[in-house]
Amino acid sequence: MNNFNPADKIQDLQYFGEFGGVNPSISDSSTYTFLSAKTMFDTFEGNAEGCYLYSRHSSPSNLYLDKALAAMEGTETANVSASGMGAITPTILQLCGQGDHVVSSRTIYGGTYAFLKNFAPRFGVATTFVDITKLDIVEAAITPNTKVLYCETVSNPLLEVADIASLAKIAKKHNIKLVVDNTFSPLSVSPAKLGADIVIHSLTKYINGSSDTVGGVTCASQEFINDLKNVNSGASMLLGPTMDSLRSASVMKNLRTLHIRMKQHSHNAMYLANKFEADGIKTVYPGLASHPSHEVYKNMINPEYGFGGMMTIDVGSLDKANALMELMQERNLGYLAVSLGFYKTLFSAPGTSTSSEIPLEEQAEMGLTDGLIRFSIGLDNDIERTYQSMNACMKELGILQLENA
Ligand code: PLP
Repeated sequence: MNNFNPADKIQDLQYFGEFGGVNPSISDSSTYTFLSAKTMFDTFEGNAEGCYLYSRHSSPSNLYLDKALAAMEGTETANVSASGMGAITPTILQLCGQGDHVVSSRTIYGGTYAFLKNFAPRFGVATTFVDITKLDIVEAAITPNTKVLYCETVSNPLLEVADIASLAKIAKKHNIKLVVDNTFSPLSVSPAKLGADIVIHSLTKYINGSSDTVGGVTCASQEFINDLKNVNSGASMLLGPTMDSLRSASVMKNLRTLHIRMKQHSHNAMYLANKFEADGIKTVYPGLASHPSHEVYKNMINPEYGFGGMMTIDVGSLDKANALMELMQERNLGYLAVSLGFYKTLFSAPGTSTSSEIPLEEQAEMGLTDGLIRFSIGLDNDIERTYQSMNACMKELGILQLENA
């Protein structure tokens, strides 16, 4: 893994536009002509390399982005989709059918949790939710019907870290697929290089980075992506969560600056996490030595991209969390908004927003407390200045005592 650098893989892609443009041309068509009826038939059968049929299946613009994201994750190929959920749900439905079983981390994005808990059972797919950091518990949950082991590299919102290499060993032993959502840690972690079978992203977040679209991707083997796109039985082809070509072209351009952005997000988050912790605020950030999985994460990351831009603090109560977020927004330190990976800082209280699908008693059990604020730290040029302003907000609201200067 040490000599795999995902940013180099992105840099090395050379795409020319149709008229010699420096960006690839956008394929602004939903359907494609054939000069012979025989080629159309062959394309339907999947035997006409390089021919396009209909853009729900694939389009030249989407294939450029597929190729770039596969290069970034070190997988054979990829399939972009209209949203992260549009990547996650077909992937799971492709791997699992009636009577099958999933073992999933219990601290995952609320939408994925709701899909596995409430929706997948309608198709006869059951899920056992486990503490993904306890490898013996993970393995014990696997049954003869288990097809998928599912986790997020760094979980949403509690920032638990999955030991991907160890989970991959368990998955191989039981002949099941390890599916990893790497949305929080692009470039920093390369799950496929650690043994994951399938890597998923919500492109909505860091990869696009400008909070102007939703998007997703499944990075996997050619065989699995062919299965997803199969005209007779492919979950992506038949459920139709296709990304629009115009959007994939714009995400592609943003992907080119991801390495610079990730370094700045990580630098800023590390700075603030150190400062908040020193101020006596309960701070969770994988880059802090106090994080329970700090060592696991340290051994897993491509170090130059750091520990990412996500952190949480606990200010004691929902009222205080809400007051702090409102004041920080008023002082232009970021936006009170869900999502992540934006150039400005975003903050939200996960218990009442992105994880509200998780019942209150389960939130309590997994340590998702009322006073928790999730930060997606932005690209601020002068993070010390940001810290001083945040610190002033905390003092003004009595979250920090004045003498804790
Ligand atoms: N995975 C993670 C870790 C997320 O945080 C999210 C959204 O917040 C998703 C998946 C879903 O992605 P999308 O909103 O693009 O469908």
